Amino acid sequence: MASAPSGGNQRILLKISGEGFAAEGGTTLDIERVRRLAKQLKVLTREGVEVAAVIGGGNILRGAQSEDLGIARATADYMGMLATVINGLALSDALEANGVPSRVMSAIDVHKVCEPFIRRRALRHLEKGRVVILVGGLGSPYFTTDSAAAQRGVELGCDLLLKATMVDGVYDKDPQKHADATLFSSLTFDQVLDQRLQVMDQTAFTLCRENALPIVVFNMAKEKGVIQACHGEKVGTLIST
Ligand code: UDP
Repeated sequence: MASAPSGGNQRILLKISGEGFAAEGGTTLDIERVRRLAKQLKVLTREGVEVAAVIGGGNILRGAQSEDLGIARATADYMGMLATVINGLALSDALEANGVPSRVMSAIDVHKVCEPFIRRRALRHLEKGRVVILVGGLGSPYFTTDSAAAQRGVELGCDLLLKATMVDGVYDKDPQKHADATLFSSLTFDQVLDQRLQVMDQTAFTLCRENALPIVVFNMAKEKGVIQACHGEKVGTLIST
């Protein structure tokens, strides 16, 4: 597993999907869940880990729902991007309440509530120990926040991409449908491709593979899931070169 680069702190990109912000099966914000996440990030930042978090919005709206809603796809995608702003502001508030400095940076222009994403400024925040909360995805419709996580992870020179989900990691088949599904503890990028396993969307996965950015897929519902995954403990599935 990737470890701290010599002479520097470990820098992680944490991708938190929208469901990580909602009550189980719900669509609105579960602020208790957000607070628990903030407490884990506090532990990591106190250890000197630099944390950039890309926030999803699926608990509120995903562009893929556009047809059901009767909304144009691009409009629904912008609504999804705005949903990530709502989640990101909630996380920032929970962090600040725990004494952890944070900055919300957006790929879409919502300057009354957050900073625009500027790479060098984001790097400066990270160096100063602030949690950088990245919202608005990539700022363009037809992408996902997984793609944003991979892109920002590479752009910000992160050592590891932690993909927080509601399942334990990558399985050989859908564990919801097959009782005998097996969880992989580690995989190479090529094995994921050869076995057509679902890790992230293709754009995101290709970016990580081409730039040798290791991914850990893990269950964020576990009490210390984020901390354990960051520490390289045996949780979830590690995908690396
Ligand atoms: N989205 C987009 N461009 C981006 C990132 C997100 O259009 O760069 C939209 C897209 O509609 C997506 C929604 O925002 O469905 C919410 O993001 P996502 O589905 O990735 O959230 P998650 O599944 O992680 O909760």
